Amino acid sequence: MAQQDGPDAAATKKRALDAASVSDSSTTDESTRQRRRRRRDRHRQNGTAAHDGDVAVNGPRPSAFEQRRNSLGKAARDPRDEPPTKKRVTVAGQGQKVRAPSPIIESDGLSRPSRGTRQRREDGPEAAEQRLVKMRDAVRTLLECVGEDPDREGLLDTPSRYAKALLEFTSGYQVNVEDIVNNALFHEGHSEMIIVKDIEIHSLCEHHLVPFVGKMHIGYIPSDTVIGLSKLPRIAEMYARRLQIQERLTKEVAHAIMEILKPQGVAVVMESSHLCMVMRGVRQTSTSTITSCVLGCFERKSKTRNEFLSLVGINR
Ligand SMILES: [Zn+2]
Repeated sequence: MAQQDGPDAAATKKRALDAASVSDSSTTDESTRQRRRRRRDRHRQNGTAAHDGDVAVNGPRPSAFEQRRNSLGKAARDPRDEPPTKKRVTVAGQGQKVRAPSPIIESDGLSRPSRGTRQRREDGPEAAEQRLVKMRDAVRTLLECVGEDPDREGLLDTPSRYAKALLEFTSGYQVNVEDIVNNALFHEGHSEMIIVKDIEIHSLCEHHLVPFVGKMHIGYIPSDTVIGLSKLPRIAEMYARRLQIQERLTKEVAHAIMEILKPQGVAVVMESSHLCMVMRGVRQTSTSTITSCVLGCFERKSKTRNEFLSLVGINR
C-alpha cells in the first residue's frame, strides 16, 4: 500500500478491496483457509488426523511421517522372525487385552536379529570376502569424498580396517543367547534384589553411526531362578554391539532378562554420552542422557523402584 496515503484513504481502499471480486487473491486464501479449518474440524470429530498434504486428495492418506516405522518399538527385523499375525486375545470377564508372547528370543537363539543378519551369518568364505570387498570400496569412496587421498601411506589399509571394525561393532546381532546364558541359571529360591551396576556400554548411534558410551545398571528380583552375574553385562553387550538408540537398547536388555529369567521384575537404567551431540550439532560436551525401563514389580511398586534407583545412585 502506498505510504503517502492518509489513514482515510487506506480505509476506503480496504473497503473497496473487501467488496472486490472473488478473483482477489486474499479472498481466495481466506476461503481456502476456512475450508481447511472445516476439514480439520471434521477430522477431529471423526478422530482421524488431518494433514496439510491431503488437501488435494480425496480422503485422508497416511503421511510420510506416519509411514515411517517406529524405530523404538520395531528395530529392523529379519522378516523370517515376524510373528504370525494373530488377533489379540481377550481374557473373558476382565476385558483386558493380552499380548501374544513376545518373540524376544528366536528358536535359533538369536534375539531381535536385523534384516540381513542371517544372510551375514550364512555367508560362506567366498561371500564373506565379497562382503568385505564391497565394504572396503565404500570406505574408500568415503575417504575420497572427505577430500583425502586413499592411496597415501597412512590410509592404505584404513578401508580394510574400518570394514572389519564395523563388523565387530555390529556383531551383537549374531550372538546366540543360549551361548551367553550357557546353563548359568540356578534355582536358588532367592527373592531379594540383585543389582549389577556400572556396566560399560559402547554402542553406535544408528542415526549418525558414531559411538555413544556410558554405563548401564541392571537390577532384578528373581522369582526363583538367578543367573550367573557375569551374564548380565554380556546380555547388555549383545544389544550394544548393534546400531542402536539408547532408548531401545535399555528396553531390549530389560525385556530379554525378563524373558530369560521370568523374574518378579527387572529394572534397567542407562546413562550415556552421545558423540553425535558432543562432536557435531549442539556440541554439548557435558550432557548425559538417562533412560530407564522398569518391568514387573519395579513398574508396579514405587518403593521397589526407588530402592533400585537409590542403590545405583540415580535417586540422589
Ligand atoms: Zn546420533
